[in-house]
Amino acid sequence: MKVIRIRAGKDRSLLRRHPWVFQGSIEKGKADPGETVRVESAEGQFLCWASFSPSSLIRVRAWSFDEHERIDAAFFQRKIEAAVALRARMPIASDAMRLIHGEADGLPGLIVDRYGDTLCAQFLASGVERWKQEIADLLLATTGLSRLYERSDASVRTLEGMEPATGWLRGEGDTAIVISEHEWKLSLDVAEGHKTGYYLDQRDNRKKFADLVRHYGCQSVLNCYSYTGGFSVAALAGGATEVISVDSSAPALARATAHVELNGFEPSRHTALDADVNHTLREMIKQGRRFDAIVLDPPKFAPTASHAERAARAYKDINRLGLKLLNPGGLLFTFSCSGGIGPELFHKIVAGAGMDAAVDGFIMDRVGAAPDHPQTIYFPEGEYLKGLLILTR
Ligand code: SAH
Repeated sequence: MKVIRIRAGKDRSLLRRHPWVFQGSIEKGKADPGETVRVESAEGQFLCWASFSPSSLIRVRAWSFDEHERIDAAFFQRKIEAAVALRARMPIASDAMRLIHGEADGLPGLIVDRYGDTLCAQFLASGVERWKQEIADLLLATTGLSRLYERSDASVRTLEGMEPATGWLRGEGDTAIVISEHEWKLSLDVAEGHKTGYYLDQRDNRKKFADLVRHYGCQSVLNCYSYTGGFSVAALAGGATEVISVDSSAPALARATAHVELNGFEPSRHTALDADVNHTLREMIKQGRRFDAIVLDPPKFAPTASHAERAARAYKDINRLGLKLLNPGGLLFTFSCSGGIGPELFHKIVAGAGMDAAVDGFIMDRVGAAPDHPQTIYFPEGEYLKGLLILTR
């Protein structure tokens, strides 16, 4: 077993059970991609078993802090069984859910989503890549399913020095799937959609939005960065009479349009707009448009903390424009999924946007990702999605 020695004083985060070691904290030692290593302090004390990533800044990802634990197929079986059992206990109003959420489930770099009878996985770090075949078999054995599609085409894979990999890992057939979420039907294609095909993390916020649209009697709703229209279906279910979905992806919008009919809503209540959100918001202000509710769910503007400043300006801009477009007493449901922007900073950004728009509002709720995207107390990076629900004065 190869040993990785940590620099003196750089073992603190591992001692606090944080699972990452950056390149600069390593004194000596190397191994092959994904190889299991023994990580030791400068004094030679055991810190963890980990996987090694020779080309990533995150050089070491911990598997286990228990010196007696062996990293073998049985280890992965325990982790996968625990993750699946956790979801079985959680309130998840859907037949689609995240089964494995990387670090939070003790499997750094592994994402597995379940869509009905199909699993879709992303292997994003060398450690899980090396164990891919064992993990694939264990996922099917644990869930009793037979189809597993791989979507390891996220850009972070290149940071690990790995090529993209997509296609059926187990099973075969149609990649188009219809799931149910709350009382709605939604469709996706594991081979073509963003990430694994759908944004499961917003499930509970969509339901919340539907309930609030109904409660406050919102008629006109603007869903910005709509993707396949999850929040638009929610708005229609909440009784909105005019819903506009804005996204720059034509295939996503085509699916949003299909979702309106799939759920039995009158197609004339919904408009799909293939456009840039920032541009659209500015045009709508010029035209004097107003809405009763607006959703802003942009892509990750700040992948890491180093992008935070530029991203903060981008978030402020769209929030300022969104607030200007709301009728008094309107609802803004605004999100950031950037790990580099913490909840406090996000609140400050939205406050700044309110100042610039000369709009005040009440914070009715602070939300995060659905529970099947758990955060652990040892891994603050897990808190990526944060949302503010604002009722304007
Ligand atoms: N709210 C969605 C998820 C949004 S993901 C849901 O509930 O499923 C972010 C979306 O923003 C993606 O669909 C992407 O196509 C879109 N997007 C990214 N940049 C954009 C831009 N400048 N203008 C419009 N849409 C954009």
